[in-house]
Amino acid sequence: MSRSNSEKDDRKRIKEKENPEAPAPNSGKPTNFIRAIIEEDLKTGKYDGRVHTRFPPEPNGYLHIGHAKSICLNYGLARDYNGKFNLRFDDTNPIKESEEYVNSIIEDVRWLGADWENRLLFASNYFDKFYEYAVDLVKKGKAYVCDLPPEKIRETRGTLTEPGVDSPYRNRSVEENLDLLDRMRRGEFPDGSKTLRAKIDMASPNVNMRDPVMYRIVHASHHNTGDKWCIYPMYDWAHGLEDSIENITHSICTLEFEDHRPLYDWFLDELEVYHPQQIEFARLNLSYTIMSKRKLLKLVQDGYVDGWDDPRMPTISGLRRRGYTPVAIRNFCDRIGVAKRESIVDVAMLEHAIREDLNKRATRFMAVLNPLKVVITNYPEDQDELLDAINNPEDETAGTRKVPFTRVLYVERNDFREEAPKKWYRLAPGREVRLRYAYYITCQEAIKDENGEIVELRCTYDPATRGGDSPDGRKVRGTLHWVSAKHAFDAEVRLYDRLFNVPDPDGHKEKGFTEFINPDSLQILKNCKLEPSLAAAKTGDLIQFERQGYFCVDSKYSTLEHPVFNRTVTLRDSWAKIEQKMKNK
Ligand code: ATP
Ligand code: MG
Repeated sequence: MSRSNSEKDDRKRIKEKENPEAPAPNSGKPTNFIRAIIEEDLKTGKYDGRVHTRFPPEPNGYLHIGHAKSICLNYGLARDYNGKFNLRFDDTNPIKESEEYVNSIIEDVRWLGADWENRLLFASNYFDKFYEYAVDLVKKGKAYVCDLPPEKIRETRGTLTEPGVDSPYRNRSVEENLDLLDRMRRGEFPDGSKTLRAKIDMASPNVNMRDPVMYRIVHASHHNTGDKWCIYPMYDWAHGLEDSIENITHSICTLEFEDHRPLYDWFLDELEVYHPQQIEFARLNLSYTIMSKRKLLKLVQDGYVDGWDDPRMPTISGLRRRGYTPVAIRNFCDRIGVAKRESIVDVAMLEHAIREDLNKRATRFMAVLNPLKVVITNYPEDQDELLDAINNPEDETAGTRKVPFTRVLYVERNDFREEAPKKWYRLAPGREVRLRYAYYITCQEAIKDENGEIVELRCTYDPATRGGDSPDGRKVRGTLHWVSAKHAFDAEVRLYDRLFNVPDPDGHKEKGFTEFINPDSLQILKNCKLEPSLAAAKTGDLIQFERQGYFCVDSKYSTLEHPVFNRTVTLRDSWAKIEQKMKNK
């Protein structure tokens, strides 16, 4: 529907960003509608010129790239308007939440570069306050204890076209409600036997206003408050209060909460407390990607992936392990912009962002993933030489390094063809190629084993071409990467591809998203040969394997004895071609 348009817009935004003459954020014109609102508020002095935003995750899973959008947005506003930014856990549901999730979220938000200073906050620290507020509402006759079980509450809620039905407990006296609420809190009643409900309007056209549940009974330990509570606040009751208590000015959330805003307003108005302004924006959806935490949890629990930080996961920790950088993710979030309209962003935009950052910053190395032995027959057996290689052609300050060259080398198996078409510029019998930073070599012979498989190439080199140019001006079209057999070390290399093989894995009614898992999303190569300088590589280093892609040291499995490298992204977008082919069919 609006997809192609938004893609066009996205491309346009990429162009604008790459154009140094494009206006920087804050150079006059607000760059999105939320900034426009804030600038207007600053002008009119609403909130006394304060800007205070927050990121309010529920610690029931790891953060994903959609959360990154919200973090960059909220933190970016606070930063750019000299405001404050809170990291606040919306930890109101003890059953699904855990310390592990809390810790991973803290790590991920910090890694993305958002700074909450000393404001790491927990909604659970406001439980007493929430309870006092609830008592206030009961005293005002605006909340009541209801004995209907959860299914009955749901049934009597009505539908979009039919009004709900009043609970038979709706008209309990204030005294009775206060007594029952107190006993709920003390643990006198079993789970699910009672709730506290706001007394609003069972016939409201907005279903959220039909006497929503504020508290439910759950006898469960909480990661922060332990066993102090056995009633827990519902999201809709707690969320607006959290923002109010923290004096948030602009309470930014995704579009699905638009219909909840009247309820938050109702609570805050009835309590006569500070009132932030809620602003909704469209959540990030990415092609070829699942974004719901519940579904990501299923991928983890059912073993489709190797944990929340599997490099194929769209989680921040997965992207980090995959080799994504905070810079790339922040640039991506800036570019996709903020809108009021739902759309699907092409995952190629995310891949573009990481390529762009790594192209500037990654150090180039040579690594042979599918090695084929090459013997340079006219190169002296006892000779070793060190050749100069450029670390990063995009960055002069990155300098050069030495790469050892010897008589026995490895090249990439698919850089050789026994029978090559005319336009094949790589190795084939009789063909000459350049070895990067080294010499021109010519293939003389391919040696096969008893099964007919090629096990070795016999080549000759031209000593006059040292460094990669020939003094007689003769040209070769192909330049191959290589490593010296004697100096190379073995490593495992993991090639990742998209986890799903359709653009909308979640958009099929008859089939669940797990049916669209790409069976080739992980390929493990065991005997790759890497140039010796890579032995010093560590987690977090930005690496390009020349002609192959960008790589990183795997933070989970790599050891000194058994190095493991992950492919972050290929050098070019091969899926764009595949999709084009599919369209042309
Ligand atoms: P999910 O729907 O993936 O399970 P959630 O919304 O339940 O996520 P929360 O922990 O409640 O997860 O989210 C914290 C914040 O992140 C919320 O303010 C929410 O609006 C925002 N957020 C979540 N998903 C996205 C997304 N895809 N794009 C932008 N913001 C998002
Ligand atoms: Mg949520």
